Amino acid sequence: MLQMVQRPSPIPKIIHHGDKQLRTAIRCFSTLKDGDEKVTGNVVSPLSSFGEDNSGESGGGFTGSDNSSATSSSTTSTSRAVNSIASLNGNKLTQPLTPPGPETFPAWSYEPRPFFHFELLYESKKSLARVGRIHTPHGIIDTPGYVSVATNAALKGRASQKKNGRDFNENAVKVNEEGVLFRSYRDGRKIPLTPESTVQAQKAFGADIIIPLDELPPYHIDDAILRDSVERTHRWEARSLKEHLKNVRNQAMYCVIHGGLNRQLRKESVNYLTSLPFDGYAIGGSLGKNGDELMELLGWMMPMFNEDGSNSSGEVMQGHVNRRNKPRHLLGIADEPSILGAVRHGIDTMDSCYPTRLSRHGTLLSREGKVHIKSGRYSRQYGVPVDRECNCSTCLHYDRPYLWHLFKAKEPVFVQLATIHNLQYMNDLMEKQRQMILEGKI
Ligand SMILES: [Zn+2]
Repeated sequence: MLQMVQRPSPIPKIIHHGDKQLRTAIRCFSTLKDGDEKVTGNVVSPLSSFGEDNSGESGGGFTGSDNSSATSSSTTSTSRAVNSIASLNGNKLTQPLTPPGPETFPAWSYEPRPFFHFELLYESKKSLARVGRIHTPHGIIDTPGYVSVATNAALKGRASQKKNGRDFNENAVKVNEEGVLFRSYRDGRKIPLTPESTVQAQKAFGADIIIPLDELPPYHIDDAILRDSVERTHRWEARSLKEHLKNVRNQAMYCVIHGGLNRQLRKESVNYLTSLPFDGYAIGGSLGKNGDELMELLGWMMPMFNEDGSNSSGEVMQGHVNRRNKPRHLLGIADEPSILGAVRHGIDTMDSCYPTRLSRHGTLLSREGKVHIKSGRYSRQYGVPVDRECNCSTCLHYDRPYLWHLFKAKEPVFVQLATIHNLQYMNDLMEKQRQMILEGKI
C-alpha cells in the first residue's frame, strides 16, 4: 500500500476584490502561500470592443473589436463537426464558428510542464476513485482534494442567457462572440469581459490554475441553443489558451468541459477540449438539478476521462491523448454527499462556495452534524468547540457560546472564524477519502 505523505493543509486564502463584478471572472485556486503579493485592484484591462447596442446576438454588435484571435481561428481546419446554430438563428456572422484545432497550437505547448503536473499514485479497483498529487509552483495539492476558490462562480448566474437567447439577466447585458458585458450593480457602469481579459486578470492575480471564461446556460434550455453556447464557450476557451500560451509564467490552465446533460454535446466537448494542450480538465456547465442527476452525469461522462488512447502495445495512438494523467476538477458543487460521490467517479479536486456560504449563514460543519450556531442551545455549551476532533484555530481557541455570541452580535469576525473551520472540515473530509481509497474501501 502506498503511504501518503500528509502535509499540513494551508488555510486557503480568500482573496477579495474591490468590485464584485470583477470577481465573477476570476476563479483562482487557493494554493497561494500566505504572504504572496496579490493584485487586488482593477486587474481587468479595459477593453473597447463592446458596442453599446444590446442586441445580444452572437457574432454581431461589436464595434472596433480586435479580431486578432478570430483571425487565428479562421485559419484552422479541424475535422470536428460544427453545427452552425448562429446561421440557424439568422445571426450575421463576423467570426468563424469552427474552434481552432489542436494543430493550431505550438508543438512545445503539448510537452510536459516542469512547473505543473499531476502524479497518479493509486487507482481504486472498486470505482474510478484515485489518489494523486498535483504539483504546482506553490506546493502540492493532495487529491482527491477540496480547493477553495478565490471567488464564487457568480458568473454562472450572470452570464447566463435565458431561454430565448436574448433575454439576459440584469447584470449580463450582453453575451456574444467577443465576450460578456456586465452592468455594474453599483454604478451602472458597463464592464466588458473577454476570454483574453480574464486570462490577463488571473495572470496578474497570480492564480496557479487559470479557468477560462465560460458561459453557463441554464438547466432547462433547448438543445440548439445549448449547442450554440457550448461551441461559443469552446471558441472562448481556445482563445483563452492562446492568450495564456503567449506568456505562461509558470501558471496552468484548465479547460472547462460543457454540454449540460446532453450526452452528445458532453462527448464532443470532452473530445475537443482534451485534444488541446490544457493542463487539466474542469467539469462545468449544468450539472443537473440535484445530486442524483449529478451522479448520473458523472457516471456516464467520467469513464471518458479514463481513456488513455493507447493501442494494444501500450502506445498512445496518433490523434489520441492520454487523459488519465491530467487532473480533473469539478466546478462549483455544493453538498457533502455530492462531494463524496464525485470522488468515486474519479474527480480529483473540487470547489464550491458551500463552506463559505454556510459560514455566512451561521452554519458550522461538524462530525456530529451541522451546527446552526444561532440556536440558543449552543449559548451555554461552555468549553465545547464546534467540532471536538477539529484542529483548526477556531476550534482550538473558541467555544460554541463565544461563536454564538459573535453571530448574534453580527460581528464580522464570525464569518472569518466560521470559514476557517468549515474549510478545515472539508480538508479533513478529503484526507479521510484519500485514506479510504488507499485502504481499498472506496
Ligand atoms: Zn475547527
